[in-house]
Amino acid sequence: MRPLGVHTSIKNTILNSIAEAVELGCSTFQIFLHSPQVWQIPEFEISIIEEFKRQRQVYGLNPLAVHSSYLINLISSTPKTIASSRYLLKKEVMTADSIGADYYIIHLKDNKDMEKEEIYAKTREGFKKVEEFYSCKILLENTAKSKITASIPDLFETLEKVKHDKIGGICIDTCHLFAAGYDLTKDEGIEKFIKDVEVYGDFKLIKIIHLNDSKTPSGSGIDRHEHIGKGYIGREGFEKFLGIKEFSSLPLILETPKKNLQDDVRNLSVIREIIKKLES
Ligand SMILES: [Zn+2]
Ligand SMILES: [Zn+2]
Repeated sequence: MRPLGVHTSIKNTILNSIAEAVELGCSTFQIFLHSPQVWQIPEFEISIIEEFKRQRQVYGLNPLAVHSSYLINLISSTPKTIASSRYLLKKEVMTADSIGADYYIIHLKDNKDMEKEEIYAKTREGFKKVEEFYSCKILLENTAKSKITASIPDLFETLEKVKHDKIGGICIDTCHLFAAGYDLTKDEGIEKFIKDVEVYGDFKLIKIIHLNDSKTPSGSGIDRHEHIGKGYIGREGFEKFLGIKEFSSLPLILETPKKNLQDDVRNLSVIREIIKKLES
């Protein structure tokens, strides 16, 4: 069975994320390193990091994905924001690496008043600060609306143009893909996605999948996650998407709405049922 998990909370300590993942029967998980809406990032104690690594090994939670903060904007028109963003990006990748994360996932910012080439150049400059000796790989995530990361051709072009040795691939989010116009409920939508990856990129570059249903219709350009099966993608859309043969062993992580753990329990069980059906 492919690795399956959810975005977990590091409330009080990063060890909480492991306890949550274990309670939910996950085999992979994702975390933020700090509140994604603030610039401050705490230093984790060495002893906590060691215990975190030890427990991860005991419970076999692989891979571990770290999601970047939402504040990072490497192409801002405010020099101060660029400076803070470069610093935070470097710090987050360094911290992700220190806790043994396999992937660091980031959504790049777009700017409607800026040409693609300028965005690429500024983004590239921002990544220069990230040292190359870390083993944690950076993944670019597709977004619901953007001229650089929403369509599959644009996403792979961006991956190519923002070239940095640590950028190791792509994370595909189903809600974003659907909102960007790939209608996963229809065979044509799935075929268009497959063809775009084959023509403009490579399935080998897709390292992880974010599974989210969508509160808005396909092509809306709006990023609103919904419980699996309760949104416009629906159970059948996920059956089609997860049936893509190149995805048969990729890690799957849910970022569905969460009031309490029961929400994750329900969403995970829908995905487990779909996988069981596909694998039977
Ligand atoms: Zn996502
Ligand atoms: Zn999203």
